[in-house]
Amino acid sequence: MSDTIFGKIASGEIPADLVYKDEDVVAFRDISPQAPTHLLVIPRKPIPTLDAAGPEDAELLGKLLLVAAQVAREAGIAERGYRTVINCNAEAGQTVFHLHLHVLGGRPMQWPPG
Ligand code: 5GP
Repeated sequence: MSDTIFGKIASGEIPADLVYKDEDVVAFRDISPQAPTHLLVIPRKPIPTLDAAGPEDAELLGKLLLVAAQVAREAGIAERGYRTVINCNAEAGQTVFHLHLHVLGGRPMQWPPG
């Protein structure tokens, strides 16, 4: 269950600056923030990538988005705007193979992303 660093954060084995938790989802501050506000939203279920999610995860995936919006509002970045990102697999830049949704805000964002 806790074979990645995010699994260990979800189970409480290692500490993180948590901003939200419930029975399905945990959100915490990124250790290396790429914006003034940089949060990560993860399922407790250890789904390695978005590509590995299945129809049985539909409700959980929806909940990740709703929690992302909630923590963005609570962080005060919703009104000006924020970006959500899911990196899927190596070429997209995924480094931790436990599904996670980045929430970035507090500065203007560029498009297209690098
Ligand atoms: P990825 O590149 O996989 O989409 O994003 C992984 C993110 O996890 C990176 O932004 C990285 O800074 C963050 N991260 C890696 N290890 C830790 C950790 O131990 N604690 C926290 N809070 N964030 C981490």
